[in-house]
Amino acid sequence: KMLQPNDPLRLLNDIFGFENFRSGQKEIIDTIISGADVLAIMPTGAGKSLCYQLPALMRSGLTIVVSPLIALMRDQVAQLRNNGIEAGSLNSTNNDEENRRVRDALRDGSLRLLYASPERLASPEATEWLSRFTVNLLAIDEAHCVSQWGHDFRPEYALLGDVRRRLGNVQTVAFTATADEATRADIVNRLFENPPNMFVHGFDRPNIRLAMRAKENVRRQIRDFLESHRGESGIVYCATRDATDRMAANLTDDGFHTLPYHAGMSSEERARNQDIFLKEDGVIIAATVAFGMGIDKPDVRFVAHAAMPKSIEAYYQEIGRAGRDGEPADTLTLYGLDDMRLRRQQIDQSEAPDEQKLVDRQRMNALVALCEAPGCRRQTLLAYFNERIQPCGNCDLCQEGVSLFDGTEDAQKLMSA
Ligand code: ADP
Ligand code: MG
Ligand code: ZN
Repeated sequence: KMLQPNDPLRLLNDIFGFENFRSGQKEIIDTIISGADVLAIMPTGAGKSLCYQLPALMRSGLTIVVSPLIALMRDQVAQLRNNGIEAGSLNSTNNDEENRRVRDALRDGSLRLLYASPERLASPEATEWLSRFTVNLLAIDEAHCVSQWGHDFRPEYALLGDVRRRLGNVQTVAFTATADEATRADIVNRLFENPPNMFVHGFDRPNIRLAMRAKENVRRQIRDFLESHRGESGIVYCATRDATDRMAANLTDDGFHTLPYHAGMSSEERARNQDIFLKEDGVIIAATVAFGMGIDKPDVRFVAHAAMPKSIEAYYQEIGRAGRDGEPADTLTLYGLDDMRLRRQQIDQSEAPDEQKLVDRQRMNALVALCEAPGCRRQTLLAYFNERIQPCGNCDLCQEGVSLFDGTEDAQKLMSA
């Protein structure tokens, strides 16, 4: 079946079965269709795949999609085929039949998207073989894998700049959910010939109220916060396992249905507490950062931090577990000089190379700056992701104004030390 559609919205409706574009998608898609290179930064779940899949259908020739995980490639290929789009992948787990299908579709020109791992693509055989087809678009998913400073560094991603050149400087579009300056600079340097059009979208979660306070009496501050959320589900993050156990015990004493969660507990116990939190209403989890990855509970109404998170990214991820259903959610983050000192020490004493430490320190300092923000928290937070907004009206500083924390000077000394 030959697809010659001319209207992105019609394609979205007819092929993908979606009503409307999500925030940011249309602009990115239009830019890709115009032929320009793109680096798009959007949070997980924002719909990045569609941004390269749809333009791939609007042109002749082949689109190559680079993805770091076989499972991700398989998923996407299956979904595309489900929508009637000829797609395939090159990976080590393909059987003969699958390989034949891909080869045939390539030969008769019906293959629209070919998924491949970076190491596959960079191999001399692949280069030779691909030179026989017209590759019109190179889409690089999870592009932060190119950055040494992230958690997902993959040396093979560094080869993609060469792949692009060997494909005749083909139009290249890259996508990631990791947005900070260091990562972005790495992506641009390693993958692109010239700086691409940059898009940053969808980081704002306007239904989540933001508030941060200097620590005075943590137990009382957390209790007061929870008092205004009686009967609701939420998470209280603590800095250590001990602090987590203490928090759970204290909150239980104060009459809140609270369960602990940290890596020092048995996996059965953790699974049980998580299960109760997911299934029952009004349960509070007191947890270390071990809790939350992959937890998708839509009606988490609040997230509190009894101590400052590790970095601005960690903060964003952790508060982001609240209000997935789009209904109002509340957050409170407590911070103190002791937290800042502890985080600094953790970075200084780690085994990481100096450059990594520098980046970690910047990420920590960005969070300290958010704690001490002079105006709207959301503006400051999103500015870190390079997304610009008006003052939000849904943070403590918009609502109550700035009250100067008398540790400000000390904090600044600590930051510049
Ligand atoms: P990301 O890669 O940004 O994490 P995905 O591309 O995996 O996100 O998309 C997340 C989900 O959103 C998928 O189920 C996808 O089908 C869906 N989706 C993408 N765009 C739209 C849209 N315009 N309308 C409705 N659902 C969409
Ligand atoms: Mg994705
Ligand atoms: Zn605000």
